[in-house]
Amino acid sequence: MGNPRGFLDFERVEGSALEPEQRLKNYKEFYSLPSKEEQERQGGRCMNCGVAFCHTGIIARKSTPVSLKSALGVISCAEEKPSPISGGDVGCPLHNLIPEWNDLIYRGLWSEAYDRLSLTNPFPDFTGKVCPAPCEDSCVCAINGESVTIKNNELAIVENAFKSGLVKPFIPKKRSGKKIAIIGSGPAGLACAWELNARGHKVVVYERNDRAGGLLMYGIPDMKLDKSLVQRRLDILARSEIEFKTGYAVDSKKKAEEILKSYDVLVLATGASKPIDLQIEGRQSEGVMFALDFLTASTKSLLDSGKGAQIAKGKDVLIIGSGDTSVDCVAVALRQGAKSITRFERSPKRPQSRPLSNPWPLKKQTFSTDYGLKEAIAHFGKDVREYQKLTKAFVSKNGKVCGALACELEWRVVSEGAESRRISSEVSGSQKEYKADLVLLAMGFSGAEDALAGSFGIELDGRTNIKTHNYRASRAKVYACGDARMGQSLVVWAIKDAIECAKAIDKDLCQEHKS
Ligand code: FAD
Repeated sequence: MGNPRGFLDFERVEGSALEPEQRLKNYKEFYSLPSKEEQERQGGRCMNCGVAFCHTGIIARKSTPVSLKSALGVISCAEEKPSPISGGDVGCPLHNLIPEWNDLIYRGLWSEAYDRLSLTNPFPDFTGKVCPAPCEDSCVCAINGESVTIKNNELAIVENAFKSGLVKPFIPKKRSGKKIAIIGSGPAGLACAWELNARGHKVVVYERNDRAGGLLMYGIPDMKLDKSLVQRRLDILARSEIEFKTGYAVDSKKKAEEILKSYDVLVLATGASKPIDLQIEGRQSEGVMFALDFLTASTKSLLDSGKGAQIAKGKDVLIIGSGDTSVDCVAVALRQGAKSITRFERSPKRPQSRPLSNPWPLKKQTFSTDYGLKEAIAHFGKDVREYQKLTKAFVSKNGKVCGALACELEWRVVSEGAESRRISSEVSGSQKEYKADLVLLAMGFSGAEDALAGSFGIELDGRTNIKTHNYRASRAKVYACGDARMGQSLVVWAIKDAIECAKAIDKDLCQEHKS
Protein backbone atom coordinates (compact mmCIF):
# COMPACT_ATOMS: atom_id res chain seq x y z
CA MET A 1 0.00 0.00 0.00
CA GLY A 2 1.15 3.48 -1.03
CA ASN A 3 4.00 5.39 0.46
CA PRO A 4 4.83 4.35 4.04
CA ARG A 5 7.01 7.47 4.47
CA GLY A 6 4.59 9.93 2.87
CA PHE A 7 3.82 11.78 6.10
CA LEU A 8 7.56 12.28 6.64
CA ASP A 9 8.42 13.15 3.05
CA PHE A 10 5.58 15.58 2.25
CA GLU A 11 4.25 18.49 4.26
CA ARG A 12 0.56 19.19 4.54
CA VAL A 13 -0.43 21.51 1.71
CA GLU A 14 -3.86 23.10 1.69
CA GLY A 15 -5.53 24.94 -1.15
CA SER A 16 -5.40 28.67 -1.58
CA ALA A 17 -7.98 31.22 -0.51
CA LEU A 18 -8.53 34.67 -1.98
CA GLU A 19 -7.46 37.45 0.38
CA PRO A 20 -10.39 38.57 2.59
CA GLU A 21 -10.71 42.04 1.08
CA GLN A 22 -10.86 40.50 -2.42
CA ARG A 23 -13.51 37.96 -1.58
CA LEU A 24 -15.70 40.46 0.26
CA LYS A 25 -16.57 41.98 -3.13
CA ASN A 26 -18.99 39.15 -3.91
CA TYR A 27 -20.64 36.00 -2.57
CA LYS A 28 -18.58 33.55 -4.63
CA GLU A 29 -16.63 30.60 -3.24
CA PHE A 30 -13.06 31.75 -2.63
CA TYR A 31 -11.17 28.53 -1.93
CA SER A 32 -9.25 26.55 -4.60
CA LEU A 33 -7.79 23.10 -4.23
CA PRO A 34 -4.10 22.49 -4.92
CA SER A 35 -3.11 21.00 -8.28
CA LYS A 36 -4.00 17.38 -9.01
CA GLU A 37 -0.34 16.37 -8.65
CA GLU A 38 -0.12 18.04 -5.24
CA GLN A 39 -3.37 16.39 -4.17
CA GLU A 40 -1.88 13.01 -5.13
CA ARG A 41 1.13 13.73 -2.90
CA GLN A 42 -1.26 14.70 -0.11
CA GLY A 43 -3.00 11.32 -0.49
CA GLY A 44 0.44 9.78 0.04
CA ARG A 45 0.69 11.40 3.48
CA CYS A 46 -1.86 8.86 4.77
CA MET A 47 -0.05 6.23 6.82
CA ASN A 48 -2.70 3.50 6.40
CA CYS A 49 -2.51 3.13 10.18
CA GLY A 50 -2.89 -0.28 11.71
CA VAL A 51 -5.84 1.08 13.66
CA ALA A 52 -7.18 4.04 11.75
CA PHE A 53 -9.49 6.38 13.65
CA CYS A 54 -10.40 8.74 10.77
CA HIS A 55 -13.28 6.53 9.62
CA THR A 56 -14.58 5.21 12.93
CA GLY A 57 -17.54 7.57 13.41
CA ILE A 58 -17.83 6.95 17.12
CA ILE A 59 -19.70 9.30 19.43
CA ALA A 60 -17.98 10.26 22.63
CA ARG A 61 -20.19 10.16 25.69
CA LYS A 62 -18.46 10.77 28.95
CA SER A 63 -21.17 9.06 30.95
CA THR A 64 -21.46 5.78 29.04
CA PRO A 65 -18.69 3.44 30.05
CA VAL A 66 -18.30 0.98 27.13
CA SER A 67 -15.79 -0.61 24.77
CA LEU A 68 -13.23 1.99 23.79
CA LYS A 69 -13.47 3.88 27.06
CA SER A 70 -10.67 1.94 28.62
CA ALA A 71 -8.43 2.46 25.59
CA LEU A 72 -9.09 6.12 25.09
CA GLY A 73 -10.09 7.45 28.46
CA VAL A 74 -13.48 8.96 27.64
CA ILE A 75 -14.84 7.36 24.51
CA SER A 76 -17.90 5.17 24.26
CA CYS A 77 -20.06 3.82 21.46
CA ALA A 78 -22.92 5.32 19.46
CA GLU A 79 -26.42 4.68 20.67
CA GLU A 80 -29.59 4.61 18.64
CA LYS A 81 -30.02 8.35 18.96
CA PRO A 82 -26.57 9.87 18.95
CA SER A 83 -25.98 13.41 20.00
CA PRO A 84 -22.90 14.67 18.19
CA ILE A 85 -23.39 18.08 19.75
CA SER A 86 -23.34 17.17 23.43
CA GLY A 87 -20.71 14.46 23.05
CA GLY A 88 -17.97 14.79 20.52
CA ASP A 89 -17.23 13.12 17.22
CA VAL A 90 -14.41 10.73 16.53
CA GLY A 91 -13.84 10.29 12.85
CA CYS A 92 -16.28 10.10 9.97
CA PRO A 93 -19.85 9.07 10.85
CA LEU A 94 -20.28 7.73 7.31
CA HIS A 95 -17.30 5.41 7.82
CA ASN A 96 -15.80 6.72 4.59
CA LEU A 97 -13.01 4.39 3.47
CA ILE A 98 -10.50 7.18 3.93
CA PRO A 99 -7.17 5.29 3.95
CA GLU A 100 -8.25 3.40 0.83
CA TRP A 101 -9.10 6.43 -1.28
CA ASN A 102 -6.14 8.39 0.02
CA ASP A 103 -3.91 5.63 -1.29
CA LEU A 104 -5.80 5.37 -4.59
CA ILE A 105 -5.26 9.05 -5.39
CA TYR A 106 -1.62 8.76 -4.35
CA ARG A 107 -1.35 6.10 -7.05
CA GLY A 108 -3.25 8.29 -9.54
CA LEU A 109 -6.27 5.95 -9.59
CA TRP A 110 -8.90 8.71 -9.38
CA SER A 111 -11.79 6.78 -10.86
CA GLU A 112 -11.27 3.88 -8.43
CA ALA A 113 -11.00 6.42 -5.58
CA TYR A 114 -14.44 7.79 -6.56
CA ASP A 115 -15.85 4.22 -6.58
CA ARG A 116 -14.69 3.74 -2.99
CA LEU A 117 -15.80 7.21 -1.86
CA SER A 118 -19.30 6.95 -3.34
CA LEU A 119 -19.77 3.55 -1.73
CA THR A 120 -20.28 5.16 1.67
CA ASN A 121 -21.10 8.80 0.89
CA PRO A 122 -23.79 9.74 -1.64
CA PHE A 123 -22.91 13.45 -1.48
CA PRO A 124 -19.14 14.03 -1.07
CA ASP A 125 -19.64 17.24 -3.07
CA PHE A 126 -21.49 18.63 -0.01
CA THR A 127 -19.36 17.18 2.78
CA GLY A 128 -16.14 18.00 0.88
CA LYS A 129 -17.21 21.64 1.09
CA VAL A 130 -18.96 22.11 4.43
CA CYS A 131 -18.03 19.28 6.80
CA PRO A 132 -16.01 20.37 9.86
CA ALA A 133 -14.02 17.18 9.20
CA PRO A 134 -13.91 15.28 12.51
CA CYS A 135 -11.88 12.77 10.44
CA GLU A 136 -8.92 15.17 10.31
CA ASP A 137 -8.91 15.71 14.08
CA SER A 138 -8.86 11.92 14.52
CA CYS A 139 -6.07 11.35 11.99
CA VAL A 140 -3.08 9.67 13.63
CA CYS A 141 -0.77 12.23 11.97
CA ALA A 142 -2.57 14.88 14.03
CA ILE A 143 -1.34 13.47 17.35
CA ASN A 144 1.93 15.32 17.05
CA GLY A 145 1.80 16.90 13.62
CA GLU A 146 -0.54 17.93 10.86
CA SER A 147 -3.34 15.67 9.73
CA VAL A 148 -3.77 14.40 6.20
CA THR A 149 -5.87 16.80 4.08
CA ILE A 150 -8.77 14.33 4.09
CA LYS A 151 -11.49 16.88 3.35
CA ASN A 152 -9.59 18.34 0.38
CA ASN A 153 -8.81 14.84 -0.91
CA GLU A 154 -12.52 13.98 -0.75
CA LEU A 155 -13.50 17.14 -2.60
CA ALA A 156 -10.80 16.62 -5.24
CA ILE A 157 -12.02 13.06 -5.86
CA VAL A 158 -15.66 14.04 -6.36
CA GLU A 159 -14.89 17.14 -8.44
CA ASN A 160 -12.59 15.06 -10.63
CA ALA A 161 -15.41 12.51 -10.94
CA PHE A 162 -17.87 15.22 -12.05
CA LYS A 163 -15.35 16.48 -14.63
CA SER A 164 -14.77 12.95 -15.93
CA GLY A 165 -18.50 12.20 -16.22
CA LEU A 166 -18.37 9.54 -13.51
CA VAL A 167 -21.17 11.01 -11.37
CA LYS A 168 -24.28 9.63 -12.97
CA PRO A 169 -27.97 9.20 -12.19
CA PHE A 170 -28.94 5.77 -10.89
CA ILE A 171 -32.16 4.21 -12.11
CA PRO A 172 -32.84 0.80 -10.58
CA LYS A 173 -33.50 -2.04 -13.02
CA LYS A 174 -36.55 -3.24 -11.11
CA ARG A 175 -39.19 -1.26 -9.19
CA SER A 176 -40.71 -2.61 -5.99
CA GLY A 177 -44.15 -1.07 -6.55
CA LYS A 178 -43.89 0.77 -3.19
CA LYS A 179 -44.37 4.54 -3.01
CA ILE A 180 -42.58 6.68 -0.43
CA ALA A 181 -43.19 10.35 0.38
CA ILE A 182 -40.34 12.30 1.97
CA ILE A 183 -41.19 15.61 3.60
CA GLY A 184 -38.18 17.92 3.51
CA SER A 185 -35.37 18.12 0.97
CA GLY A 186 -32.32 18.94 3.14
CA PRO A 187 -29.34 16.56 3.15
CA ALA A 188 -31.36 14.02 5.16
CA GLY A 189 -34.35 14.06 2.79
CA LEU A 190 -32.05 13.86 -0.23
CA ALA A 191 -29.89 11.03 1.14
CA CYS A 192 -32.98 9.06 2.19
CA ALA A 193 -34.50 9.61 -1.28
CA TRP A 194 -31.29 8.50 -3.02
CA GLU A 195 -30.98 5.33 -0.96
CA LEU A 196 -34.67 4.32 -1.20
CA ASN A 197 -34.78 5.02 -4.92
CA ALA A 198 -31.67 2.91 -5.44
CA ARG A 199 -33.47 0.11 -3.58
CA GLY A 200 -36.27 0.23 -6.15
CA HIS A 201 -38.96 2.27 -4.42
CA LYS A 202 -40.74 5.20 -6.04
CA VAL A 203 -39.82 8.37 -4.10
CA VAL A 204 -41.53 11.75 -4.09
CA VAL A 205 -39.93 14.61 -2.08
CA TYR A 206 -42.16 17.42 -0.78
CA GLU A 207 -40.46 20.74 0.02
CA ARG A 208 -42.17 23.88 1.27
CA ASN A 209 -39.50 26.26 -0.06
CA ASP A 210 -39.42 27.32 -3.68
CA ARG A 211 -36.12 25.45 -4.13
CA ALA A 212 -35.03 22.05 -2.82
CA GLY A 213 -31.88 21.50 -0.73
CA GLY A 214 -32.94 22.50 2.82
CA LEU A 215 -30.16 24.32 4.66
CA LEU A 216 -27.75 23.45 1.85
CA MET A 217 -29.77 25.85 -0.31
CA TYR A 218 -31.21 28.34 2.20
CA GLY A 219 -28.90 28.47 5.23
CA ILE A 220 -25.26 27.76 4.37
CA PRO A 221 -24.19 30.81 2.32
CA ASP A 222 -22.92 30.72 -1.26
CA MET A 223 -19.32 31.44 -0.23
CA LYS A 224 -19.21 28.07 1.49
CA LEU A 225 -21.40 26.15 -0.93
CA ASP A 226 -22.25 27.57 -4.32
CA LYS A 227 -25.94 27.02 -5.03
CA SER A 228 -25.27 25.86 -8.59
CA LEU A 229 -23.44 22.90 -7.03
CA VAL A 230 -26.50 22.06 -4.92
CA GLN A 231 -28.59 22.26 -8.10
CA ARG A 232 -26.06 20.04 -9.94
CA ARG A 233 -26.71 17.28 -7.39
CA LEU A 234 -30.49 17.87 -7.37
CA ASP A 235 -30.50 17.41 -11.16
CA ILE A 236 -28.79 14.03 -10.76
CA LEU A 237 -31.43 12.97 -8.24
CA ALA A 238 -34.24 14.13 -10.54
CA ARG A 239 -32.68 12.26 -13.47
CA SER A 240 -32.65 9.17 -11.22
CA GLU A 241 -36.49 9.37 -11.29
CA ILE A 242 -36.84 10.93 -7.82
CA GLU A 243 -39.73 13.37 -8.04
CA PHE A 244 -39.60 16.80 -6.34
CA LYS A 245 -42.65 18.86 -5.42
CA THR A 246 -41.33 22.26 -4.28
CA GLY A 247 -43.44 25.06 -2.83
CA TYR A 248 -45.54 22.36 -1.14
CA ALA A 249 -45.79 22.69 2.64
CA VAL A 250 -47.27 19.65 4.36
CA ASP A 251 -48.45 21.75 7.26
CA SER A 252 -51.96 20.63 8.11
CA LYS A 253 -53.69 17.49 9.26
CA LYS A 254 -55.65 17.37 6.02
CA LYS A 255 -52.55 17.45 3.79
CA ALA A 256 -50.72 14.95 5.99
CA GLU A 257 -53.66 12.51 5.87
CA GLU A 258 -53.94 12.85 2.09
CA ILE A 259 -50.27 12.00 1.68
CA LEU A 260 -50.42 9.14 4.17
CA LYS A 261 -53.33 7.64 2.21
CA SER A 262 -51.45 7.79 -1.10
CA TYR A 263 -48.11 6.34 -0.01
CA ASP A 264 -46.84 3.16 1.62
CA VAL A 265 -44.39 5.11 3.81
CA LEU A 266 -43.95 8.73 4.84
CA VAL A 267 -40.55 10.04 6.01
CA LEU A 268 -40.25 13.23 8.03
CA ALA A 269 -36.93 14.90 7.19
CA THR A 270 -38.15 18.33 8.16
CA GLY A 271 -35.06 19.56 10.04
CA ALA A 272 -34.76 21.22 13.45
CA SER A 273 -35.87 24.65 12.41
CA LYS A 274 -37.25 26.02 15.68
CA PRO A 275 -34.75 28.79 16.53
CA ILE A 276 -33.82 29.46 20.15
CA ASP A 277 -35.23 32.84 21.09
CA LEU A 278 -34.04 35.45 23.58
CA GLN A 279 -37.15 36.68 25.35
CA ILE A 280 -35.74 39.77 27.01
CA GLU A 281 -36.92 43.37 27.17
CA GLY A 282 -37.01 44.98 23.71
CA ARG A 283 -37.17 41.64 21.83
CA GLN A 284 -40.10 42.87 19.72
CA SER A 285 -38.16 45.91 18.45
CA GLU A 286 -37.76 46.26 14.71
CA GLY A 287 -34.26 45.11 13.71
CA VAL A 288 -34.05 42.10 16.04
CA MET A 289 -34.31 39.00 13.89
CA PHE A 290 -33.37 35.34 13.73
CA ALA A 291 -30.06 34.63 11.99
CA LEU A 292 -31.56 32.06 9.64
CA ASP A 293 -34.13 34.56 8.34
CA PHE A 294 -31.26 36.95 7.61
CA LEU A 295 -29.23 34.27 5.80
CA THR A 296 -32.22 32.95 3.85
CA ALA A 297 -33.15 36.44 2.66
CA SER A 298 -29.57 36.95 1.48
CA THR A 299 -29.44 33.71 -0.55
CA LYS A 300 -32.95 34.19 -1.93
CA SER A 301 -32.10 37.68 -3.15
CA LEU A 302 -28.93 36.39 -4.82
CA LEU A 303 -30.74 33.52 -6.50
CA ASP A 304 -33.76 35.55 -7.59
CA SER A 305 -32.11 38.77 -8.70
CA GLY A 306 -28.36 38.14 -8.73
CA LYS A 307 -27.98 40.93 -6.15
CA GLY A 308 -27.21 40.54 -2.46
CA ALA A 309 -29.77 41.75 0.10
CA GLN A 310 -29.04 45.04 1.88
CA ILE A 311 -30.36 44.29 5.38
CA ALA A 312 -27.04 45.01 7.15
CA LYS A 313 -25.86 47.86 4.92
CA GLY A 314 -24.52 50.75 7.00
CA LYS A 315 -25.67 49.11 10.25
CA ASP A 316 -24.00 48.37 13.55
CA VAL A 317 -24.64 44.64 13.64
CA LEU A 318 -24.73 42.60 16.83
CA ILE A 319 -24.70 38.83 16.45
CA ILE A 320 -25.60 36.75 19.50
CA GLY A 321 -24.29 33.17 19.43
CA SER A 322 -21.04 31.41 18.58
CA GLY A 323 -21.66 28.54 16.18
CA ASP A 324 -21.42 28.09 12.39
CA THR A 325 -24.54 30.17 11.88
CA SER A 326 -23.01 33.19 13.61
CA VAL A 327 -19.86 32.94 11.47
CA ASP A 328 -22.01 32.85 8.35
CA CYS A 329 -23.87 35.94 9.61
CA VAL A 330 -20.57 37.79 10.07
CA ALA A 331 -19.52 36.88 6.51
CA VAL A 332 -22.85 37.88 4.95
CA ALA A 333 -23.15 41.12 6.99
CA LEU A 334 -19.66 42.10 5.79
CA ARG A 335 -20.63 41.52 2.17
CA GLN A 336 -23.80 43.56 2.66
CA GLY A 337 -21.67 46.49 3.91
CA ALA A 338 -22.18 46.48 7.70
CA LYS A 339 -20.69 49.53 9.46
CA SER A 340 -19.54 47.50 12.46
CA ILE A 341 -19.97 43.94 13.69
CA THR A 342 -19.86 42.58 17.24
CA ARG A 343 -20.38 38.95 18.17
CA PHE A 344 -21.34 38.02 21.70
CA GLU A 345 -20.71 34.60 23.14
CA ARG A 346 -21.49 33.46 26.65
CA SER A 347 -18.55 31.07 26.93
CA PRO A 348 -14.93 31.94 27.63
CA LYS A 349 -12.38 31.95 24.81
CA ARG A 350 -11.33 28.39 23.99
CA PRO A 351 -7.80 27.21 24.80
CA GLN A 352 -5.10 27.22 22.10
CA SER A 353 -4.26 23.55 22.64
CA ARG A 354 -6.37 20.55 23.59
CA PRO A 355 -7.29 20.46 27.30
CA LEU A 356 -7.13 17.10 29.10
CA SER A 357 -10.90 16.77 28.78
CA ASN A 358 -10.66 16.89 24.98
CA PRO A 359 -7.96 14.40 24.00
CA TRP A 360 -7.14 13.10 20.54
CA PRO A 361 -8.98 11.49 18.65
CA LEU A 362 -12.00 13.57 19.67
CA LYS A 363 -13.09 16.48 17.52
CA LYS A 364 -10.89 19.39 18.62
CA GLN A 365 -12.46 21.97 20.92
CA THR A 366 -9.68 24.53 20.66
CA PHE A 367 -9.56 28.18 19.69
CA SER A 368 -9.95 28.73 15.96
CA THR A 369 -10.90 31.56 13.65
CA ASP A 370 -13.34 30.53 10.95
CA TYR A 371 -13.61 32.20 7.52
CA GLY A 372 -16.09 35.00 8.34
CA LEU A 373 -14.19 35.96 11.48
CA LYS A 374 -10.91 36.14 9.54
CA GLU A 375 -12.64 38.39 7.02
CA ALA A 376 -13.91 40.65 9.82
CA ILE A 377 -10.42 40.92 11.34
CA ALA A 378 -8.99 41.88 7.93
CA HIS A 379 -11.79 44.39 7.29
CA PHE A 380 -12.10 46.08 10.70
CA GLY A 381 -8.55 45.48 11.90
CA LYS A 382 -9.81 43.77 15.07
CA ASP A 383 -11.47 40.61 16.26
CA VAL A 384 -15.25 41.08 16.50
CA ARG A 385 -15.70 38.39 19.18
CA GLU A 386 -16.67 39.45 22.70
CA TYR A 387 -16.50 36.57 25.18
CA GLN A 388 -18.42 35.94 28.41
CA LYS A 389 -21.19 38.36 27.51
CA LEU A 390 -24.79 37.99 28.64
CA THR A 391 -27.36 40.09 26.79
CA LYS A 392 -29.85 41.49 29.30
CA ALA A 393 -32.09 43.78 27.20
CA PHE A 394 -32.44 45.45 23.81
CA VAL A 395 -32.64 49.22 23.77
CA SER A 396 -34.97 50.77 21.21
CA LYS A 397 -36.05 54.18 19.94
CA ASN A 398 -39.43 54.63 18.20
CA GLY A 399 -39.81 50.83 18.13
CA LYS A 400 -36.47 50.28 16.37
CA VAL A 401 -33.52 48.62 18.07
CA CYS A 402 -30.55 50.92 18.69
CA GLY A 403 -28.51 49.02 21.25
CA ALA A 404 -28.16 46.14 23.68
CA LEU A 405 -27.39 46.01 27.39
CA ALA A 406 -24.97 43.25 28.30
CA CYS A 407 -22.96 42.23 31.34
CA GLU A 408 -19.86 40.12 31.90
CA LEU A 409 -20.10 36.48 32.95
CA GLU A 410 -17.76 34.68 35.27
CA TRP A 411 -17.39 30.90 34.81
CA ARG A 412 -16.32 28.31 37.36
CA VAL A 413 -16.25 24.54 37.51
CA VAL A 414 -18.30 22.76 40.16
CA SER A 415 -17.85 19.09 41.00
CA GLU A 416 -20.81 16.81 41.57
CA GLY A 417 -19.44 13.41 42.56
CA ALA A 418 -17.41 12.05 39.66
CA GLU A 419 -18.92 14.57 37.22
CA SER A 420 -18.12 18.24 36.95
CA ARG A 421 -19.84 21.06 35.13
CA ARG A 422 -19.30 24.74 34.46
CA ILE A 423 -21.66 27.33 35.83
CA SER A 424 -21.76 31.05 35.19
CA SER A 425 -22.65 34.08 37.28
CA GLU A 426 -22.97 37.75 36.38
CA VAL A 427 -20.17 40.11 37.37
CA SER A 428 -21.84 42.85 39.39
CA GLY A 429 -21.53 46.37 38.01
CA SER A 430 -20.30 45.11 34.61
CA GLN A 431 -23.39 46.05 32.58
CA LYS A 432 -22.68 48.20 29.51
CA GLU A 433 -24.63 49.46 26.52
CA TYR A 434 -23.47 48.36 23.05
CA LYS A 435 -24.55 50.10 19.86
CA ALA A 436 -26.64 47.92 17.53
CA ASP A 437 -29.28 48.71 14.94
CA LEU A 438 -29.44 45.16 13.62
CA VAL A 439 -29.41 42.20 16.03
CA LEU A 440 -29.12 38.65 14.70
CA LEU A 441 -30.08 35.83 17.06
CA ALA A 442 -27.83 32.85 16.26
CA MET A 443 -28.15 30.76 19.41
CA GLY A 444 -29.05 27.47 17.76
CA PHE A 445 -32.21 25.50 17.27
CA SER A 446 -34.36 23.70 19.78
CA GLY A 447 -35.86 20.86 17.76
CA ALA A 448 -38.62 20.08 15.32
CA GLU A 449 -41.45 22.54 14.73
CA ASP A 450 -44.36 22.17 17.19
CA ALA A 451 -46.96 21.89 14.40
CA LEU A 452 -45.50 18.55 13.24
CA ALA A 453 -46.92 16.57 16.12
CA GLY A 454 -50.47 17.83 15.48
CA SER A 455 -50.35 17.53 11.67
CA PHE A 456 -48.91 14.03 11.56
CA GLY A 457 -50.29 12.66 14.81
CA ILE A 458 -46.85 11.74 16.10
CA GLU A 459 -45.04 12.17 19.41
CA LEU A 460 -42.04 14.39 20.08
CA ASP A 461 -39.46 13.55 22.74
CA GLY A 462 -38.33 15.64 25.72
CA ARG A 463 -36.02 17.68 23.50
CA THR A 464 -38.89 18.26 20.99
CA ASN A 465 -37.27 16.03 18.39
CA ILE A 466 -39.42 13.42 16.66
CA LYS A 467 -39.64 10.37 18.89
CA THR A 468 -38.56 7.22 17.06
CA HIS A 469 -37.76 3.59 17.62
CA ASN A 470 -35.48 2.22 14.92
CA TYR A 471 -36.44 5.28 12.82
CA ARG A 472 -40.19 4.49 13.16
CA ALA A 473 -42.20 7.39 14.58
CA SER A 474 -45.06 6.74 16.97
CA ARG A 475 -47.56 6.32 14.11
CA ALA A 476 -47.66 3.43 11.63
CA LYS A 477 -46.05 4.08 8.21
CA VAL A 478 -44.30 7.23 9.49
CA TYR A 479 -40.50 7.40 9.87
CA ALA A 480 -38.11 10.26 10.68
CA CYS A 481 -34.47 11.11 10.10
CA GLY A 482 -31.95 13.94 10.13
CA ASP A 483 -32.13 16.97 12.40
CA ALA A 484 -35.88 16.43 12.90
CA ARG A 485 -35.00 13.22 14.76
CA MET A 486 -31.55 13.98 16.21
CA GLY A 487 -31.78 17.69 16.90
CA GLN A 488 -29.50 20.33 15.41
CA SER A 489 -26.52 18.57 13.89
CA LEU A 490 -24.25 18.51 10.85
CA VAL A 491 -24.68 17.69 7.18
CA VAL A 492 -22.61 14.53 7.54
CA TRP A 493 -24.78 13.31 10.43
CA ALA A 494 -27.98 14.12 8.52
CA ILE A 495 -26.75 11.99 5.61
CA LYS A 496 -25.68 9.15 7.88
CA ASP A 497 -29.00 9.15 9.75
CA ALA A 498 -30.98 9.22 6.50
CA ILE A 499 -29.13 6.24 5.04
CA GLU A 500 -29.79 4.21 8.21
CA CYS A 501 -33.46 5.28 8.09
CA ALA A 502 -33.75 4.19 4.44
CA LYS A 503 -32.25 0.79 5.32
CA ALA A 504 -34.76 0.36 8.16
CA ILE A 505 -37.68 1.28 5.84
CA ASP A 506 -36.47 -1.08 3.13
CA LYS A 507 -36.18 -3.91 5.65
CA ASP A 508 -39.70 -3.26 7.00
CA LEU A 509 -41.16 -3.13 3.47
CA CYS A 510 -39.43 -6.41 2.55
CA GLN A 511 -40.77 -8.09 5.69
CA GLU A 512 -44.26 -6.76 4.94
CA HIS A 513 -43.98 -8.18 1.42
CA LYS A 514 -42.99 -11.64 2.74
CA SER A 515 -45.75 -11.84 5.35
P1 FAD B 1 -32.73 20.71 6.81
O1 FAD B 1 -31.50 20.94 6.02
O2 FAD B 1 -33.12 21.74 7.79
O3 FAD B 1 -33.92 20.48 5.78
C1 FAD B 1 -35.26 20.35 6.20
C2 FAD B 1 -36.16 20.75 5.05
O4 FAD B 1 -37.50 20.41 5.36
C3 FAD B 1 -36.17 22.25 4.77
O5 FAD B 1 -35.91 22.48 3.40
C4 FAD B 1 -37.58 22.68 5.14
O6 FAD B 1 -38.06 23.75 4.34
C5 FAD B 1 -38.37 21.41 4.87
N1 FAD B 1 -39.62 21.35 5.61
C6 FAD B 1 -39.81 21.50 6.96
N2 FAD B 1 -41.10 21.35 7.28
C7 FAD B 1 -41.76 21.09 6.13
C8 FAD B 1 -43.13 20.85 5.82
N3 FAD B 1 -44.06 20.84 6.78
N4 FAD B 1 -43.48 20.61 4.53
C9 FAD B 1 -42.52 20.62 3.54
N5 FAD B 1 -41.22 20.86 3.78
C10 FAD B 1 -40.83 21.08 5.06
N6 FAD B 1 -23.56 21.68 8.97
C11 FAD B 1 -22.34 21.33 8.47
O7 FAD B 1 -22.01 20.13 8.46
N7 FAD B 1 -21.46 22.28 8.02
C12 FAD B 1 -21.78 23.61 7.97
O8 FAD B 1 -20.99 24.43 7.54
C13 FAD B 1 -23.06 23.99 8.45
N8 FAD B 1 -23.43 25.29 8.41
C14 FAD B 1 -24.69 25.63 8.83
C15 FAD B 1 -25.07 26.97 8.71
C16 FAD B 1 -26.33 27.35 9.12
C17 FAD B 1 -26.73 28.77 8.97
C18 FAD B 1 -27.21 26.39 9.69
C19 FAD B 1 -28.56 26.80 10.18
C20 FAD B 1 -26.84 25.07 9.80
C21 FAD B 1 -25.57 24.67 9.36
N9 FAD B 1 -25.17 23.34 9.44
C22 FAD B 1 -23.94 22.98 8.95
C23 FAD B 1 -26.08 22.28 9.91
C24 FAD B 1 -26.72 21.51 8.74
O9 FAD B 1 -27.08 22.40 7.71
C25 FAD B 1 -27.94 20.70 9.20
O10 FAD B 1 -27.52 19.83 10.23
C26 FAD B 1 -28.53 19.86 8.06
O11 FAD B 1 -28.90 20.66 6.97
C27 FAD B 1 -29.75 19.08 8.55
O12 FAD B 1 -30.32 18.40 7.47
P2 FAD B 1 -31.87 18.00 7.44
O13 FAD B 1 -32.09 17.46 6.09
O14 FAD B 1 -32.17 17.15 8.62
O15 FAD B 1 -32.68 19.36 7.65
